[in-house]
Amino acid sequence: MRSAPCFAVTLLAALAANAAYAHSATLILINGKIWTENPKQPEGQAIAIEGNRILEVGSSQAVRKLAGPDCKVIDLGGRRVVPGFNDSHVHFISGGDYLIGVHLDDVNSVDEFGRRIGDYARKLPQGVWIRNGNWDHQRWTPANLPTHQVIDSVTPDNPVFVWRSDGHMALANAAAMKLAGIDRNTKDVPGGEIVRDPQGNPTGVFKDEATSLVERVMPALPESELDAALEAAMQEAASHGVTSVQNLWDAPTDQYSALKFRELEKFARNGKLRVRVYNANPLRDWKALATAGVQAAFGSPVLRMGNLKSFADGALGSETAWMDAPFADKPGYSGLSSSDLSDSAGYYASIQGADKVGLQISVHAIGDRAIHTVLDIFERAEHENGPADRRFRIEHVQHLRPEDAGRFATLGVIASMQPYHAIDDGRWAEKELGPVRIQSSYAWRLLLDHHAVLAFGSDWPVAPLDPLLGIYAAATRRTLDGKNPGGWVPQQRITVAEAVHAYTVGSAYAEHQEQVKGSLEPGKLADLVVLTADIFNIPPADLDKARVYTTVFDGAVVYQQRAAQH
Ligand SMILES: [Zn+2]
Repeated sequence: MRSAPCFAVTLLAALAANAAYAHSATLILINGKIWTENPKQPEGQAIAIEGNRILEVGSSQAVRKLAGPDCKVIDLGGRRVVPGFNDSHVHFISGGDYLIGVHLDDVNSVDEFGRRIGDYARKLPQGVWIRNGNWDHQRWTPANLPTHQVIDSVTPDNPVFVWRSDGHMALANAAAMKLAGIDRNTKDVPGGEIVRDPQGNPTGVFKDEATSLVERVMPALPESELDAALEAAMQEAASHGVTSVQNLWDAPTDQYSALKFRELEKFARNGKLRVRVYNANPLRDWKALATAGVQAAFGSPVLRMGNLKSFADGALGSETAWMDAPFADKPGYSGLSSSDLSDSAGYYASIQGADKVGLQISVHAIGDRAIHTVLDIFERAEHENGPADRRFRIEHVQHLRPEDAGRFATLGVIASMQPYHAIDDGRWAEKELGPVRIQSSYAWRLLLDHHAVLAFGSDWPVAPLDPLLGIYAAATRRTLDGKNPGGWVPQQRITVAEAVHAYTVGSAYAEHQEQVKGSLEPGKLADLVVLTADIFNIPPADLDKARVYTTVFDGAVVYQQRAAQH
């Protein structure tokens, strides 16, 4: 009997300690406007975080009471908060490598192109490759492709292989072609093109699969450059409020693909990864992953794998998208299917086999024929493998047969799209597609009206790693040249709220992670963004002036806008 009160006291103390533990927020943000993406509690004034998880969303008064002993308090001053952005399609280390390399994306003439590469080459040791670039000849007048002659005289000692911004063609200089053993006798590669002058000499431009002729002689990046590239990429992500990325395989060789993943693993292991990464392997890796027992979204909250990427076609800018009917400016030519599809039976067998063991499938498809063909393949695999929570994805979905829009919801296929491409390509797409096909290009409204799941991303470094710019593009469809102030194909615009949903919940769903992130609610990962403007209550045309004020990743501030930039 005597021990009973003692027991009761101990129990009460334990309960009190437990209660104290349950109410020990490490970071609270008060006096704001929290957009939660949680349908049960769409908005709040304040948010409490404990460690790397959200503890509570509610009024400032209620949330203040949850503060633990060393709690950091941020007064939002009325600012808007949204869940951390999740970019569903990036090439993360390539993007970082681009940031630390030669910049050609704002080059407006072929002369400037040569000058920019020459200036960069002068600072490099002899023999070092010049890569990346992100040029776009559609910015030049006339919009002719560059040739190796433009850069040979300024790059005699450095091989060059610089990419167009769409990632579907690249320019080599004479030094690079010499190392690769390429001359007028080199044969074309299936699924690609060696662009030639009227005499049959390579001009230096290689399209799609033909780029492998040069890439196979390029050395892999040294670890120091990989480190610098990943650091630069993480800084860029934090500055744009991007707390998760889905890294679609883009490495030219298996060796390089492994190097990039090992780099991510190294950062994850050392606790230095400041963005969550879902990594895709090339489809051809499926058997190795299946043998190891890997399934979709395997890994830790910062680094996961289990997605497989392949290609059905090329891109619109290079006229390598695979279309039902010929391009408007190229009678008789409807683009190219990819080399992955050249063995259609083998391709289907890989997709079916990978799906059967629970791996996730993402296929790049831009042209209407490519999209239709991939939907057919998915439909067949679903039929043969039976019901499963598989979440097939089509990447880009740019030029859609309107009658295919309904198949995304029916088949449970996620449309992983990049809104910025519409305001970029919208400058010239009609020239290639004609007036009818553009009506269902970048058809977000059409897809949402047919209940498709949209996951938004950038395709960085093809386009800027900036969700606010993507949201602006989705809500306005104002092309970059300013020629469509009311929107290019305006009926396909969506609302800011729909675009934010696609950049948060939609992307989380696309990587099987909607239970742990995408919305701000108790128990979910503490990734959020404070914005300089209330994007839901300003005219969409002003969205391009909104910036990220603060980024919180895993419960800690990883980016803060400096006062001078207010
Ligand atoms: Zn991509």
